[in-house]
Amino acid sequence: MICPACASTHFQSTRIEGGLPAEQCEACRGVLVDLERYRAWRKTMPAVALAAATAEASVTDGAVRLCPRTGRIMARLKVDNHHPLRLDYSAAAQAIWLDAGEWDTLMSLDFHGQLDEIASDRWQASVQEAASRERIEQAMQARFGDDFAELARMRAWLDGRPNRGEMLAFLGALKD
Ligand SMILES: [Zn+2]
Repeated sequence: MICPACASTHFQSTRIEGGLPAEQCEACRGVLVDLERYRAWRKTMPAVALAAATAEASVTDGAVRLCPRTGRIMARLKVDNHHPLRLDYSAAAQAIWLDAGEWDTLMSLDFHGQLDEIASDRWQASVQEAASRERIEQAMQARFGDDFAELARMRAWLDGRPNRGEMLAFLGALKD
């Protein structure tokens, strides 16, 4: 295997905190986690131990990374809309690459029990949706300034009306 982070070829089998088996790069301490082994591990740990994160996350720099098993480009997974953490995911190998410190970050975010969900299309779509909703909100805020809060309140109110469509049509038909 070739390390996707530092190109070292020296790996050793290890267990990261909580006993999760992984292949660890001896040079940069990043780990490859097989999702199948991850799922088996999680089943044995109904209450995943929570530990405070101590290490700073090494947030990846935006360079393309290749799966150490298949040599294919790995996908970059967002764990949520706000946190800068990105995980490298190989769909073909069903494995996730974690840089040194990223497991601790996952624990501090309480996402370490959801590694396979994070890799799902559903999770990634919802992160993207949240990001695009937020971009739209920001654009509207910039556009309407102080009126935005009132506008948002009206929208929330309208969303709860059974005849929302008619109300919107009525508002749209108002003369200037
Ligand atoms: Zn490495």
